[in-house]
Amino acid sequence: MLNLSEIFYSFQGESTFMGRPTLFLRLSECNLDCIYCDSKHSFTTRKTVALADLIDIVRQYDSPYVCITGGEPLLQKTPLVKLIRELVKSGKIISTETNGSISIKEIPVLVKRVIDVKTPSSGHSGSFLTENLQYITPYDEIKFLIFDRQDLEYAENFIGSNKIEETGCQILYSPNTEDQEITDYMCKWIAGSKKNRIFQPQLHKLIKEQPVYIDL
Ligand code: SF4
Repeated sequence: MLNLSEIFYSFQGESTFMGRPTLFLRLSECNLDCIYCDSKHSFTTRKTVALADLIDIVRQYDSPYVCITGGEPLLQKTPLVKLIRELVKSGKIISTETNGSISIKEIPVLVKRVIDVKTPSSGHSGSFLTENLQYITPYDEIKFLIFDRQDLEYAENFIGSNKIEETGCQILYSPNTEDQEITDYMCKWIAGSKKNRIFQPQLHKLIKEQPVYIDL
């Protein structure tokens, strides 16, 4: 069984899959409470769904891309891993988002694991589980939400002190798109630094079109 908040079809707003039409499975519950969280509605469960039923729903939906998000999906790790394995067998291209505070060890490397490192603006800097550093692969992506210059400094220190570039993963910098000043600053900083950072405006916040919700 999996506790779900919602299923919807929309554009991927984050990661290197950004811009691709994607079916989102939003799992309920989270172990953090970030100041800027825009998905607190997922903290409560709308429906507990049998794994087999969920697999059928996703298989039948005409979307090669599937993103498992939350909340914090890794709180339901056992059924989550089963779900991932079945969907990969069906040919789906899966990404899983996580807030970085729970071990990713058991999450199959066949999926794109998009791992947050919480910056000071979240209220949860320091929540990253350092054990996860040893499991990061080149297919994974590390994401920092940047709300101000202190967040950027924190991110750069984290990358340097933990040798993140040596893992070969993609490093995503996502500015608070509602703040033009930090967005402009990030553009200039990334271009000027010549570092391998990917500028990731929050695409999903720019889209006015409503997602297509699937009945639960
Ligand atoms: S980890 Fe994500 S879902 Fe959880 S509180 Fe933070 S922003 Fe919200």
